[in-house]
Amino acid sequence: MIHIILFGPPGCGKGTQAKIISNKFGFIHLSTGMIFRDHMKKKTNLGKLASCYINKGILVPDAITTNMFYIEIQKYFNAKGIIYDGYPRTKNQIFSLEKILKKFCLGKINIIFYFFIQKNLIINRLLKRGKTSYRNDDTNIITVQRRIKEYEKETSLIWKNYKWKNNIIRLNASLSVEQISFFVEKKIINLL
Ligand code: ADP
Repeated sequence: MIHIILFGPPGCGKGTQAKIISNKFGFIHLSTGMIFRDHMKKKTNLGKLASCYINKGILVPDAITTNMFYIEIQKYFNAKGIIYDGYPRTKNQIFSLEKILKKFCLGKINIIFYFFIQKNLIINRLLKRGKTSYRNDDTNIITVQRRIKEYEKETSLIWKNYKWKNNIIRLNASLSVEQISFFVEKKIINLL
């Protein structure tokens, strides 16, 4: 089973690329943000709990996220591959993912696509997205800035370990959607 991680700040285009790539290759698109929002819409206990953090623009604590992720990933043990969008976001989450893959003999993390982009571009993109997505965390400039700060502080350095050196592929997230998916597809084809 192939495991591809899309990594980068909020608004860098991970979700868009995850959709394109998962359709193209028949992989599962696993977005922890989407799962949380689904729970919030259905007003489940998890949704109510997660919304306290999400609406403030901060990370949902690892204990909650990891539990939810553990349940979710078990639905896809027969998949050809999984595109992870928005997970892992902390070192703890990397450990949890590795532990699950090992426990169920599902292979290893193959590629981490690292999306790079200027801060002012993502702020604009997120505020624009907020106008149509109605996501609370996209419409408010303070929350948007908080999420970017949270990314810089808690998330941006989590792969900084020699162990991942050969798995990381950097990409310029200010290019067009088509240019990025073309680049990503070529790299994935090399894996198959
Ligand atoms: P974006 O990448 O644009 O911020 P997401 O849908 O990936 O959008 O995430 C929305 C919010 O959901 C995050 O700001 C965070 O509060 C929460 N969240 C999503 N994934 C995780 C995760 N792996 N760990 C902790 N919190 C998460």
